[in-house]
Amino acid sequence: MGRSNPIRINTDWFFLEMETVSISFELFPPKTEKGRENLRQTVRSLGVFNPDFFSVTFGAGGSTRDHTRETVLEIQQQSTFNATPHLSCIGSTHENALELLRCYKDAGIHQIVILRGDRPSGILDIGEFHHANELVSFIREQTGDHFHIQVAAYPEMHPESKSSAKDLDNFKRKVNAGANSAITQYFYNMHAYLDFVDRCHSTGIDIPIFPGIMPITNYERLAQFSSICGAEIPRWLHNRLQDFGDDTDSIRAFGIDFVSQLCEDLLRQGAPGIHFYTLNQAQASTEIMKRINL
Ligand code: FAD
Repeated sequence: MGRSNPIRINTDWFFLEMETVSISFELFPPKTEKGRENLRQTVRSLGVFNPDFFSVTFGAGGSTRDHTRETVLEIQQQSTFNATPHLSCIGSTHENALELLRCYKDAGIHQIVILRGDRPSGILDIGEFHHANELVSFIREQTGDHFHIQVAAYPEMHPESKSSAKDLDNFKRKVNAGANSAITQYFYNMHAYLDFVDRCHSTGIDIPIFPGIMPITNYERLAQFSSICGAEIPRWLHNRLQDFGDDTDSIRAFGIDFVSQLCEDLLRQGAPGIHFYTLNQAQASTEIMKRINL
């Protein structure tokens, strides 16, 4: 029997079976001792929400391969939480991917997030794996069903895709190659997510698709990042955030309100959980989690 916790949504109380809602937090691997200490504190702070896992990104072009591994192993072996490494095609060869997979398997890791990866500027040749589906197939061939494989999904379409239909075909290729679930790029328009999930269902894709949530704390950084990764900031939201100018406290307060409501609405609409892009900061995700009263 799942615990039932009330979630306040407008004037109604809704009840979610807590065991069916997955909460996870994404981190990036720090490169300095100060950064590592901050990350340990972030893991301790967010650990109170008993997350399903902490995932650790793989730097553009494989630039953080060793830091990703070290961070993942530290969380897995020195805390009570599950660590989930990201692994990207860019920067991977058959040989070094296999070596990492063996290392993760030996450490008792059972889940991995597989991506094509972001190209560092100036790099055109991406190496032995060209698309995420190829790396998913490779992992299935080499390690069978050992890993639960998560892949990326794009409710607002991947910026390099020619059409949303082609993007969906690609997503299906990753699922057919053996992906078990997906995490989305962040978005602020819930209907984009709901429409994407509907379209997946209508093409026979039935894996869980977890919404990726980016707390809003710094407007300039968010706008810059969104223009690169293709996540849309709706015009009205953009206008509201710009109105605050450099009043960072008001941006944060507004961002917490807005994103908490988005999370509640997503869960109410049947999203299987929430994956937070934390940028190694616990505070915003903590406030949002408290607001949604999970
Ligand atoms: P793919 O699924 O390979 O798709 C990339 C593009 O190619 C898409 O436009 C797709 O439609 C197209 N495509 C795919 N297959 C084919 C094919 N066979 N023929 C023609 N076109 C095709 N980046 C990092 O560097 N490190 C990370 O740790 C990281 N973590 C992420 C976590 C999440 C949850 C998300 C959503 C993104 C993450 N990213 C990360 C960013 C990601 O690497 C980029 O968005 C990248 O540009 C695409 O990765 P993908 O796995 O979706 O690629």
